[in-house]
Amino acid sequence: MTAGTTQMFVSRRFWLAAATMLAILLPAHWAWAQDRLSVVTTTGMIADAVSQVGGNAVEVKSLMGPGVDPHAYRQTRSDIVAMANADLVLRNGLYLEAQLEDFLLDLGENGEVVAVAEAVPENLLISSEDYSDRFDPHLWMNPSLWSRVVINVRDALIAAYPREEQAFRANADAYLAQLSRLSRYTTDVLSSVAPESRVVVSSHDAFNYFGSAYGFEVIGIQGISTESEAGLRRIAELVDVLVERNIRAVFVETSVSDRNIRALIEGAAARGHKVVIGGELYSDAMGQPGTYEGTYVGMIDHNATTIAGALGGRAPESGMQGFLN
Ligand SMILES: [Zn+2]
Repeated sequence: MTAGTTQMFVSRRFWLAAATMLAILLPAHWAWAQDRLSVVTTTGMIADAVSQVGGNAVEVKSLMGPGVDPHAYRQTRSDIVAMANADLVLRNGLYLEAQLEDFLLDLGENGEVVAVAEAVPENLLISSEDYSDRFDPHLWMNPSLWSRVVINVRDALIAAYPREEQAFRANADAYLAQLSRLSRYTTDVLSSVAPESRVVVSSHDAFNYFGSAYGFEVIGIQGISTESEAGLRRIAELVDVLVERNIRAVFVETSVSDRNIRALIEGAAARGHKVVIGGELYSDAMGQPGTYEGTYVGMIDHNATTIAGALGGRAPESGMQGFLN
């Protein structure tokens, strides 16, 4: 262990201890409503599942808001206090929360921390392109697969708050029915895209589960993680792909800088091939709270409707249930 990692380790332990002290000093259920299960989640998608399944019995807080990149997110002091005070902490796992991983593992030794996507059977997961011993963490891109995560969320809530089991099961069933409808709608609109046009080019590799669910080729300029910088050579290779396959639209993501996508469009233009931005996709974070796109269903409806429309398929402009802007 180097001096640097020792220091990081000590500092993590220090914050955990400090947060635990604070939790002891503060009145019970500080900042949480009485008689509700307090849950902290890393991503908004997991928080949405918690509020759908938990209903009024649960108070949920998501650490990562709209436009936040989970691969790069580091915990703040108030995050640490919130996690130490919570009855239950739910994370995606599969190394999505790379910078929080060690902290969450430490926290899991003292309290209840469940990795809800990591608990999905390995045979349903896609291998990571960057690491041979890891899996792609972006499960929410396939609503049928996300349904399994919702079941894991339900079971974690039941284990933490058994007296609400019946309500949690009923709420989960209703939400799972919505996700089935979403799955049918997305399959329907995306299958209207001509087979040769089924290519999604975006900033980072968030769309592999989308690609495998709907039969699209997905090309991310960066690798699975947004931490690795795309080189000029990668951009040049992708310009070749756009020109050769006559791909007319590429997509930007709300949680990733669009710098590389713009470089790609300029590169194609220099070769006389016009490419447009087909729209902005929600990759690793949902839209603004209080909007339809700020829910999991709205996020996926938006993505499928935008992709189908931009690539020449047929999709209603306002989406599955007329709620898209
Ligand atoms: Zn990602």
